[in-house]
Amino acid sequence: MTRDHVIEFFRRLAEANPSPTTELESGNPYQLLVAVVLSAQATDASVNIACRPLFARITTPRQMVELGEESFRDAIKTIGLFNTKAKNVIALSQALIDRHGGEVPGTREELQALPGVGRKTANVVLNTAFGQETFAVDTHVFRVCNRTGLAPGKTVEDVEVKLEKIVPQPFRRDAHHWLILHGRYTCKARLPECWRCPVIDLCRYKPKTPPPDERAKPSAARTASRASSTARTGRGRTVSTPKAGRNRSRPSRLP
Ligand code: SF4
Repeated sequence: MTRDHVIEFFRRLAEANPSPTTELESGNPYQLLVAVVLSAQATDASVNIACRPLFARITTPRQMVELGEESFRDAIKTIGLFNTKAKNVIALSQALIDRHGGEVPGTREELQALPGVGRKTANVVLNTAFGQETFAVDTHVFRVCNRTGLAPGKTVEDVEVKLEKIVPQPFRRDAHHWLILHGRYTCKARLPECWRCPVIDLCRYKPKTPPPDERAKPSAARTASRASSTARTGRGRTVSTPKAGRNRSRPSRLP
């Protein structure tokens, strides 16, 4: 993608959503950190449902440590990997008390030294809580960057490095939010909704998904053709290969 195309790509996503942010609910940097740790391999919606009542009474690391691992585990048991996450959150809360006076630190090194905090979590916290121009690459960002040709890479690290290089101002601060939201709601994993995509002419992914009414047409045509074959031969499905045909016409699942 050329530099002009990259600028136009983000200009259009920004036009559609001028103030993007994380969909994880939190009231302060500590709650954000906990929510991001809990969101690994879980949906933001499931984390919000579990954390809403919890965050109404737990706002600091000390309160979390006082709550204890067992009660916290019970509160988040609807979230995947809750056992490990409960251990990590109690340990990171204790580490925040011991090393940072109960505050969330604002550097990558300090954040990643906390239990259960990896590069992606640190990037989200640095960006959302501290306003830094970081690029958290999750599954949605990875997919969008590869499909579109914006920042292709074999690993999340490759994609992050490319985004660092190519995203211009004034889009750097919010770029990862736009990419996550675009992947979550438009450029979906199983079937990208290209027919309503604002960057369709900039994206290199093929084949583009047509609108639902157009997709229905070939299917109806196939049915008509199958019916006519069946009527001619009297042998049913073995005459044609409708399943293979349907699979060929669909986009592949991942970048
Ligand atoms: S055109 Fe399709 S594949 Fe490309 S970004 Fe838009 S939704 Fe994704």
